[in-house]
Amino acid sequence: LIAMDQVNKHFGPLHVLRDVDLNVDRGEVVVVIGPSGSGKSTLCRSINRLEPIDSGEIRFDGTPLPAEGRALARLRSEVGMVFQSFNLFAHKTVLENVTLGPVKVRKEKTAVVRERAMDLLERVGIANQADKLPAQLSGGQQQRAAIARALAMQPKAMLFDEPTSALDPEMVGEVLDVMTGLAADGMTMIVVTHEMGFARHAANRVIFMADGQLVEQAPPAEFFANPRTERARDFLSKVL
Ligand code: ATP
Ligand code: MG
Repeated sequence: LIAMDQVNKHFGPLHVLRDVDLNVDRGEVVVVIGPSGSGKSTLCRSINRLEPIDSGEIRFDGTPLPAEGRALARLRSEVGMVFQSFNLFAHKTVLENVTLGPVKVRKEKTAVVRERAMDLLERVGIANQADKLPAQLSGGQQQRAAIARALAMQPKAMLFDEPTSALDPEMVGEVLDVMTGLAADGMTMIVVTHEMGFARHAANRVIFMADGQLVEQAPPAEFFANPRTERARDFLSKVL
């Protein structure tokens, strides 16, 4: 579903993605870990073209990423993204946050979208918060609302960039539970996270990234039991 081929990206003199090759199959859950500044966010952002790349190619569902226009808007709706900060619209209710994209961007019928939105809020466990403003919700509830909002666009894949890093510890679990459920339902996911428990239980593959390169990748059981590179071992010794 996602295919990156020899992708390079610079920020000025900084080479942040180096010859990245990555294929993610439909239904696959890939967890990306690695030190700060290794390029994990840039990798995610390049997939829905929030960051244009310098060389190489990225294809989504068989098609090279479009650079602009309606095709780019469609790509962004097909690749949902959830960030560390929840990025909800502060002056809209939770339900409005979830319905806005499909109604405004995709021109779907309000009634249809509302029904789907309520189902999604039910699924992430905050249907009873639908008419509140984001500020009235806990961090965990806000992040679950952000996930529901992304899902409302009926994406083919979901990118999560440290979705639980800004949360109080007691709220991490409720967000990871929603993500685990999504994974079990067959959603294609790329998840940047420091939650090694999630990586162990929900990932099909763990990728260790350092200095813009995919240094090591393996199924979680294999990766955690037997990291092959010194850098990965060193990283794990710090986070586990
Ligand atoms: P973290 O774990 O801290 O989130 P990361 O692995 O997500 O790190 P990136 O955010 O992808 O790393 O950044 C990779 C490198 O690119 C870093 O050195 C960062 O400072 C730099 N960088 C990221 N975005 C920009 C930008 N818009 N302009 C210039 N440099 C940038
Ligand atoms: Mg990052």
